[in-house]
Amino acid sequence: MIHVPAGLIRMSTKYDWQHRAEPDASRSGAIDLWAAGKVLGGGSSVNGMLWVRGHPGDFDHWGALGCDGWTFDSVLPYFRRGETYERTGSCARGGDGPMHVSHVRTPHPLTEVFLEAAQEQGHKFNSDYNGFNQDGVSHAQVSQRRGLRDSAATAYLWPVWRRPNLKIRRKALVTRVVIEDGRAVGVEYLQGGKEVMARCESDVILSAGSFVSPKLLLLSGIGDPDHLRSHGIEVVAENRSVGRNLQEHPYASLIYTVNVPTINTEVTPTGVVKNGADLVVRRRGAATSPVPHAVLFAGGEDSHPSVFQGTFAPMAFGPPPENTSWSRLKRRFSRSSSGTGAHDVHRMHPFESPAVTVLPCVLHPEGRGRISLRSSDPTAPILLEHEVVGHPCDMDKLIEACEMHRDIMNSAAFAPYILEEHFPGKAVKSEDDWRRLLRIASWRGEHAVSTCRMGSDDEAVVDPSLRVRGVDNLRVADASVMPTLTSGNTNAPAIMIGEKASDLVMGRSADS
Ligand SMILES: Cc1cc2nc3c(=O)[nH]c(=O)nc-3n(C[C@H](O)[C@H](O)[C@H](O)COP(=O)(O)OP(=O)(O)OC[C@H]3O[C@@H](n4cnc5c(N)ncnc54)[C@H](O)[C@@H]3O)c2cc1C
Repeated sequence: MIHVPAGLIRMSTKYDWQHRAEPDASRSGAIDLWAAGKVLGGGSSVNGMLWVRGHPGDFDHWGALGCDGWTFDSVLPYFRRGETYERTGSCARGGDGPMHVSHVRTPHPLTEVFLEAAQEQGHKFNSDYNGFNQDGVSHAQVSQRRGLRDSAATAYLWPVWRRPNLKIRRKALVTRVVIEDGRAVGVEYLQGGKEVMARCESDVILSAGSFVSPKLLLLSGIGDPDHLRSHGIEVVAENRSVGRNLQEHPYASLIYTVNVPTINTEVTPTGVVKNGADLVVRRRGAATSPVPHAVLFAGGEDSHPSVFQGTFAPMAFGPPPENTSWSRLKRRFSRSSSGTGAHDVHRMHPFESPAVTVLPCVLHPEGRGRISLRSSDPTAPILLEHEVVGHPCDMDKLIEACEMHRDIMNSAAFAPYILEEHFPGKAVKSEDDWRRLLRIASWRGEHAVSTCRMGSDDEAVVDPSLRVRGVDNLRVADASVMPTLTSGNTNAPAIMIGEKASDLVMGRSADS
């Protein structure tokens, strides 16, 4: 189910760390389980596959924040080097990199309608949002190779797994970085109930993602001294930013019932057999479908990053529930899965009738969360605090994004197909209505970043060479180092960071 794109909707919880957050005060105390891939390839093995580099201005902003060597011109070679894009021809795109990027193999017919509807509302068509210009409405690009998921594991690890200088330890939990005389000399990990140490001569590189890379730094004595001492951890290097600055995209969903079949209605025993066969024979059909078939970026200019993203999905999954009464909605959200009161991506049920979903998103939220330790026990869960719409600007922008997407869905192009706005429905009209709704029904994009923020200032966790400040021979290379969120989903920039990290470690430049 990892490799089959549509398998995402039935992905087992055993591949997910499910980091349980504290109640979110901005959403009536909702408790989320933040997803994170617990498998080789991490998030890239369980994600929605949408391939988005971000706006060129995102990286120029990183440069302006003191991340020398991370402006768009500097990172473009790494984006190119990391990918094979099926439609080559642009000097912005890569033609022979490990990750395969393709268009949706069997796009749903309503995808073209969405493209037309967005243009009717003044958005221009953009044939490649991963080129030099991001804004506009486009066909989705996904990390797939001939209809199957491509991940950091299939693209980077599988081709080299027999190399004698590579050892992959599975079912191993890294518990801390071993630091001697201010220098990282290895890591400790638990495997089969035993504590093991792996020593190294040169750099230790943490790539445990935005939740666990900061956790491991804290467990190793790198962080806020008061926090470390409160858990009895000896302070090795003082850095108050470790685990701070957590950023995540606020999302909403609008669901419309339609009069043509959509992918959710294929989730039946017959549909699974038919589409499974289509996958095997032609590598096409609903089984190869990712969630997004089209995307919209809006609000940006040449040098200014996009403000909003919208994803068009020719399918609908619940919750939300059957009617839009807010009290019922709240009950449904707070009840949800496993009897824990947690909102959980593994418990989404396909709608029985044909329906499509648009997912408006705020690309550069002001809200910040944090990750800290609950205990010095490395097997204990992290303490995760974050509010999706806690910052007033984020709420205002999310409302604007929802209204923009409702206008698209109400355009003439969609009129022949839409039966009704199922969610949130006609009852939501005023700004106050949206505000009340989003306090319950907004959610996250699974794009956590910035908990080991890169920069050249004294507060940064890593410097622009990804070295942890205050400790020798220790680097972090994953989404946690992004100084700010990029304009879009975060897998492509995480892979770019890995590509650039390899050059930094080897002392090479992009063109060598
Ligand atoms: C459900 C979901 C949907 C998403 N959808 C999209 C999308 O459509 N498009 C997109 O671009 N992005 C998407 N993302 C985000 C994207 O996948 C991540 O930004 C990206 O994978 C981050 O990469 P990373 O290397 O920073 O961390 P990760 O991919 O999380 O990798 C961290 C790795 O470290 C391992 N690890 C963690 N702790 C330990 C430990 N103590 N010991 C040993 N190993 C450990 C993990 O198992 C994992 O393999 C999604 C993410 C999720 C979870």
